[in-house]
Amino acid sequence: MAGGPVTSPDITRFAPSPTGLLHLGHAFSALTAAAHGRFHLRIEDIDRDRCRPEFDRAIHDDLHWLGLDWPLPVMRQSDRMPAYHAALARLAPLTYPCRCRRGDIRAALSAPQEGAPPAGPDGLIYPGTCRGCDLRDAGPDDVIRLDAARAFDALGLDRIGFRDRRILPDHDHILTRDQFCAGIGDVILSRRGMGTSYHLAVVVDDAAQGITLVTRGKDLFDATFIHVLLQRLLDLPTPAYLHHRLIRDDVGRRLAKRDDARAIRHYRDDGATPTDIRHMIGL
Ligand code: GLU
Repeated sequence: MAGGPVTSPDITRFAPSPTGLLHLGHAFSALTAAAHGRFHLRIEDIDRDRCRPEFDRAIHDDLHWLGLDWPLPVMRQSDRMPAYHAALARLAPLTYPCRCRRGDIRAALSAPQEGAPPAGPDGLIYPGTCRGCDLRDAGPDDVIRLDAARAFDALGLDRIGFRDRRILPDHDHILTRDQFCAGIGDVILSRRGMGTSYHLAVVVDDAAQGITLVTRGKDLFDATFIHVLLQRLLDLPTPAYLHHRLIRDDVGRRLAKRDDARAIRHYRDDGATPTDIRHMIGL
Protein backbone atom coordinates (compact mmCIF):
# COMPACT_ATOMS: atom_id res chain seq x y z
CA MET A 1 0.00 0.00 0.00
CA ALA A 2 1.19 3.50 -0.77
CA GLY A 3 2.35 5.45 2.27
CA GLY A 4 2.11 9.20 2.84
CA PRO A 5 -0.10 11.36 4.98
CA VAL A 6 -3.80 10.55 5.13
CA THR A 7 -5.78 13.74 4.64
CA SER A 8 -9.43 13.80 5.61
CA PRO A 9 -11.79 15.48 3.15
CA ASP A 10 -12.86 19.02 3.78
CA ILE A 11 -16.26 19.78 5.24
CA THR A 12 -17.99 22.34 3.06
CA ARG A 13 -21.38 24.02 3.13
CA PHE A 14 -23.93 25.87 1.07
CA ALA A 15 -25.85 28.41 3.12
CA PRO A 16 -28.75 29.98 1.23
CA SER A 17 -31.42 32.27 2.66
CA PRO A 18 -34.97 31.16 1.82
CA THR A 19 -35.98 34.55 0.45
CA GLY A 20 -36.51 33.46 -3.16
CA LEU A 21 -35.98 30.64 -5.64
CA LEU A 22 -32.44 29.37 -6.21
CA HIS A 23 -30.96 30.56 -9.51
CA LEU A 24 -28.02 29.48 -11.64
CA GLY A 25 -25.57 31.32 -9.37
CA HIS A 26 -26.76 29.26 -6.40
CA ALA A 27 -26.47 26.07 -8.44
CA PHE A 28 -22.84 26.97 -9.19
CA SER A 29 -22.13 27.75 -5.54
CA ALA A 30 -23.74 24.56 -4.22
CA LEU A 31 -22.06 22.32 -6.82
CA THR A 32 -18.69 23.99 -6.10
CA ALA A 33 -19.09 23.26 -2.39
CA ALA A 34 -20.08 19.66 -3.09
CA ALA A 35 -17.10 19.16 -5.41
CA HIS A 36 -14.66 20.21 -2.69
CA GLY A 37 -15.66 18.13 0.31
CA ARG A 38 -18.39 16.63 2.45
CA PHE A 39 -21.31 18.89 1.69
CA HIS A 40 -23.56 20.41 4.37
CA LEU A 41 -26.66 22.52 3.88
CA ARG A 42 -27.48 25.39 6.23
CA ILE A 43 -30.59 27.52 6.01
CA GLU A 44 -29.82 31.16 6.82
CA ASP A 45 -33.22 32.36 7.95
CA ILE A 46 -32.51 35.06 10.52
CA ASP A 47 -34.43 37.67 8.55
CA ARG A 48 -37.89 36.47 9.56
CA ASP A 49 -39.64 39.17 7.54
CA ARG A 50 -38.16 38.03 4.22
CA CYS A 51 -37.86 34.24 4.66
CA ARG A 52 -40.70 31.96 3.48
CA PRO A 53 -41.26 28.24 4.13
CA GLU A 54 -42.11 27.66 0.47
CA PHE A 55 -38.64 28.88 -0.54
CA ASP A 56 -37.08 26.65 2.12
CA ARG A 57 -38.90 23.65 0.59
CA ALA A 58 -37.91 24.71 -2.92
CA ILE A 59 -34.22 24.92 -1.89
CA HIS A 60 -34.30 21.32 -0.66
CA ASP A 61 -36.14 20.14 -3.72
CA ASP A 62 -33.93 21.93 -6.28
CA LEU A 63 -30.71 20.79 -4.60
CA HIS A 64 -31.88 17.16 -4.48
CA TRP A 65 -32.86 17.44 -8.13
CA LEU A 66 -29.33 18.66 -8.91
CA GLY A 67 -28.08 15.42 -7.32
CA LEU A 68 -26.90 16.79 -3.98
CA ASP A 69 -27.35 15.21 -0.58
CA TRP A 70 -26.37 16.29 2.92
CA PRO A 71 -26.41 15.10 6.53
CA LEU A 72 -29.55 15.61 8.60
CA PRO A 73 -30.75 17.48 10.53
CA VAL A 74 -30.16 20.62 8.48
CA MET A 75 -28.93 23.53 10.58
CA ARG A 76 -31.40 26.43 10.62
CA GLN A 77 -30.23 29.76 11.93
CA SER A 78 -33.63 30.52 13.42
CA ASP A 79 -32.94 27.63 15.87
CA ARG A 80 -29.58 29.02 16.88
CA MET A 81 -30.40 32.26 18.71
CA PRO A 82 -28.96 31.08 22.06
CA ALA A 83 -25.58 30.46 20.39
CA TYR A 84 -25.59 33.94 18.82
CA HIS A 85 -26.57 35.56 22.11
CA ALA A 86 -23.73 33.76 23.87
CA ALA A 87 -21.27 35.03 21.25
CA LEU A 88 -22.63 38.57 21.57
CA ALA A 89 -22.31 38.40 25.35
CA ARG A 90 -18.69 37.33 24.98
CA LEU A 91 -17.98 40.25 22.65
CA ALA A 92 -19.92 42.71 24.86
CA PRO A 93 -16.85 44.62 26.15
CA LEU A 94 -16.00 45.53 22.53
CA THR A 95 -19.49 46.47 21.41
CA TYR A 96 -21.85 49.40 21.75
CA PRO A 97 -25.52 50.08 21.01
CA CYS A 98 -26.26 52.35 18.07
CA ARG A 99 -29.51 54.11 17.33
CA CYS A 100 -28.50 55.79 14.07
CA ARG A 101 -30.78 55.09 11.12
CA ARG A 102 -29.45 54.81 7.59
CA GLY A 103 -30.49 58.42 6.87
CA ASP A 104 -28.54 59.70 9.92
CA ILE A 105 -25.43 57.81 8.80
CA ARG A 106 -25.74 59.05 5.25
CA ALA A 107 -26.16 62.64 6.46
CA ALA A 108 -23.15 62.34 8.79
CA LEU A 109 -21.00 60.94 5.99
CA SER A 110 -21.89 63.11 3.06
CA ALA A 111 -20.11 66.28 2.27
CA PRO A 112 -22.35 67.97 -0.35
CA GLN A 113 -19.72 68.09 -3.11
CA GLU A 114 -18.44 64.52 -2.71
CA GLY A 115 -20.46 61.78 -4.48
CA ALA A 116 -21.71 58.62 -2.81
CA PRO A 117 -20.68 58.12 0.85
CA PRO A 118 -18.04 55.41 1.42
CA ALA A 119 -19.33 51.85 1.78
CA GLY A 120 -17.73 48.48 2.52
CA PRO A 121 -18.91 44.88 2.85
CA ASP A 122 -21.18 45.81 5.78
CA GLY A 123 -22.69 48.82 4.03
CA LEU A 124 -21.93 52.48 4.76
CA ILE A 125 -18.80 52.98 6.84
CA TYR A 126 -20.22 53.95 10.19
CA PRO A 127 -18.92 57.39 11.27
CA GLY A 128 -18.84 56.41 14.95
CA THR A 129 -21.57 58.71 16.26
CA CYS A 130 -22.70 56.27 18.99
CA ARG A 131 -19.24 54.79 19.68
CA GLY A 132 -18.68 54.79 23.43
CA CYS A 133 -22.40 54.43 24.28
CA ASP A 134 -23.02 52.00 27.10
CA LEU A 135 -24.69 48.66 26.39
CA ARG A 136 -26.72 49.12 29.57
CA ASP A 137 -28.46 52.03 27.87
CA ALA A 138 -29.36 49.99 24.77
CA GLY A 139 -32.92 50.55 23.58
CA PRO A 140 -35.07 47.84 21.95
CA ASP A 141 -34.60 49.42 18.51
CA ASP A 142 -30.84 49.77 18.71
CA VAL A 143 -28.38 47.72 16.71
CA ILE A 144 -25.19 46.43 18.36
CA ARG A 145 -21.89 47.34 16.68
CA LEU A 146 -18.37 46.06 17.12
CA ASP A 147 -15.82 48.76 17.92
CA ALA A 148 -13.33 47.61 15.29
CA ALA A 149 -10.31 49.59 16.49
CA ARG A 150 -10.76 48.33 20.05
CA ALA A 151 -11.21 44.80 18.75
CA PHE A 152 -7.81 44.90 17.02
CA ASP A 153 -6.23 46.45 20.10
CA ALA A 154 -7.75 43.83 22.40
CA LEU A 155 -6.23 41.12 20.22
CA GLY A 156 -2.89 42.93 20.06
CA LEU A 157 -3.04 42.72 16.25
CA ASP A 158 -2.29 45.36 13.67
CA ARG A 159 -3.45 43.22 10.73
CA ILE A 160 -5.50 40.17 9.89
CA GLY A 161 -5.54 37.93 6.87
CA PHE A 162 -6.58 34.67 5.30
CA ARG A 163 -5.67 32.46 2.38
CA ASP A 164 -7.88 31.67 -0.55
CA ARG A 165 -7.48 28.29 -2.26
CA ARG A 166 -8.15 29.81 -5.67
CA ILE A 167 -7.14 33.49 -5.59
CA LEU A 168 -3.35 33.70 -5.02
CA PRO A 169 -3.26 30.48 -2.97
CA ASP A 170 0.30 31.00 -1.68
CA HIS A 171 -0.36 34.47 -0.49
CA ASP A 172 -2.08 35.89 2.59
CA HIS A 173 -4.76 38.45 1.86
CA ILE A 174 -4.04 41.06 4.49
CA LEU A 175 -5.89 44.04 5.88
CA THR A 176 -4.24 46.31 8.44
CA ARG A 177 -6.15 47.64 11.44
CA ASP A 178 -6.35 51.07 9.80
CA GLN A 179 -7.50 49.68 6.46
CA PHE A 180 -10.18 47.65 8.24
CA CYS A 181 -11.40 50.68 10.19
CA ALA A 182 -11.46 52.91 7.09
CA GLY A 183 -12.81 50.39 4.59
CA ILE A 184 -15.16 48.25 6.70
CA GLY A 185 -15.59 49.98 10.06
CA ASP A 186 -17.75 49.16 13.07
CA VAL A 187 -19.81 46.29 11.69
CA ILE A 188 -23.26 45.36 13.00
CA LEU A 189 -23.34 42.22 15.14
CA SER A 190 -27.01 42.40 16.04
CA ARG A 191 -29.57 43.90 13.71
CA ARG A 192 -32.80 45.55 14.77
CA GLY A 193 -35.36 42.88 15.61
CA MET A 194 -33.03 40.00 14.66
CA GLY A 195 -30.79 39.41 17.68
CA THR A 196 -27.80 38.69 15.43
CA SER A 197 -26.40 39.60 12.02
CA TYR A 198 -25.21 37.65 8.99
CA HIS A 199 -21.56 38.13 9.99
CA LEU A 200 -21.92 36.92 13.56
CA ALA A 201 -24.22 34.01 12.69
CA VAL A 202 -22.07 32.72 9.84
CA VAL A 203 -18.93 32.66 12.01
CA VAL A 204 -20.64 30.93 14.93
CA ASP A 205 -22.29 28.38 12.63
CA ASP A 206 -19.29 27.56 10.45
CA ALA A 207 -17.45 26.65 13.66
CA ALA A 208 -20.40 24.70 15.10
CA GLN A 209 -20.71 22.66 11.90
CA GLY A 210 -16.96 22.01 11.80
CA ILE A 211 -16.68 23.60 8.34
CA THR A 212 -13.05 23.39 7.17
CA LEU A 213 -13.51 25.00 3.74
CA VAL A 214 -15.88 27.89 3.05
CA THR A 215 -16.70 28.11 -0.65
CA ARG A 216 -18.71 31.12 -1.74
CA GLY A 217 -18.87 33.88 -4.33
CA LYS A 218 -16.19 36.51 -4.84
CA ASP A 219 -18.71 39.15 -3.84
CA LEU A 220 -18.13 38.05 -0.23
CA PHE A 221 -14.33 38.27 -0.40
CA ASP A 222 -14.13 41.51 1.61
CA ALA A 223 -16.64 40.24 4.17
CA THR A 224 -14.22 37.41 4.95
CA PHE A 225 -11.98 39.92 6.77
CA ILE A 226 -14.88 40.59 9.15
CA HIS A 227 -15.33 36.87 9.69
CA VAL A 228 -11.65 36.28 10.40
CA LEU A 229 -11.65 39.12 12.95
CA LEU A 230 -14.72 37.63 14.68
CA GLN A 231 -13.13 34.16 14.68
CA ARG A 232 -10.08 35.61 16.45
CA LEU A 233 -12.23 37.42 19.01
CA LEU A 234 -14.32 34.31 19.71
CA ASP A 235 -11.37 31.87 19.71
CA LEU A 236 -12.83 29.94 16.79
CA PRO A 237 -10.77 28.26 14.08
CA THR A 238 -10.38 30.03 10.75
CA PRO A 239 -11.40 27.66 7.95
CA ALA A 240 -9.84 27.69 4.50
CA TYR A 241 -11.62 29.88 1.95
CA LEU A 242 -12.34 29.55 -1.74
CA HIS A 243 -14.12 32.50 -3.34
CA HIS A 244 -15.46 31.41 -6.69
CA ARG A 245 -16.42 33.30 -9.83
CA LEU A 246 -19.91 34.76 -10.09
CA ILE A 247 -22.53 33.73 -12.61
CA ARG A 248 -23.64 36.78 -14.54
CA ASP A 249 -26.55 37.64 -16.79
CA ASP A 250 -26.25 38.65 -20.45
CA VAL A 251 -25.28 42.21 -19.59
CA GLY A 252 -22.68 41.12 -17.04
CA ARG A 253 -24.64 41.72 -13.84
CA ARG A 254 -24.36 39.24 -10.99
CA LEU A 255 -27.55 37.18 -10.73
CA ALA A 256 -29.80 38.11 -7.80
CA LYS A 257 -32.99 36.65 -6.37
CA ARG A 258 -34.99 39.11 -8.43
CA ASP A 259 -33.69 37.33 -11.57
CA ASP A 260 -36.54 34.88 -11.40
CA ALA A 261 -36.12 33.96 -15.06
CA ARG A 262 -32.81 32.27 -14.15
CA ALA A 263 -34.39 30.24 -11.36
CA ILE A 264 -33.49 26.55 -11.47
CA ARG A 265 -37.21 25.89 -11.04
CA HIS A 266 -38.08 27.57 -14.33
CA TYR A 267 -35.45 25.65 -16.26
CA ARG A 268 -36.80 22.45 -14.69
CA ASP A 269 -40.32 23.35 -15.73
CA ASP A 270 -39.02 23.91 -19.27
CA GLY A 271 -37.62 20.37 -19.34
CA ALA A 272 -33.93 21.04 -18.57
CA THR A 273 -31.91 18.24 -16.92
CA PRO A 274 -29.33 18.66 -14.14
CA THR A 275 -26.66 18.11 -16.79
CA ASP A 276 -28.08 21.02 -18.81
CA ILE A 277 -27.79 23.22 -15.73
CA ARG A 278 -24.16 22.19 -15.25
CA HIS A 279 -23.41 23.07 -18.85
CA MET A 280 -25.14 26.45 -18.53
CA ILE A 281 -22.83 27.41 -15.65
CA GLY A 282 -19.70 26.08 -17.28
CA LEU A 283 -19.25 22.90 -15.24
N1 GLU B 1 -26.74 33.34 3.25
C1 GLU B 1 -25.60 33.92 2.59
C2 GLU B 1 -25.95 34.18 1.14
O1 GLU B 1 -26.88 33.56 0.65
C3 GLU B 1 -24.44 32.96 2.71
C4 GLU B 1 -23.17 33.53 2.32
C5 GLU B 1 -21.99 32.67 2.76
O2 GLU B 1 -21.74 31.67 2.09
O3 GLU B 1 -21.37 32.97 3.77
O4 GLU B 1 -25.35 35.03 0.52
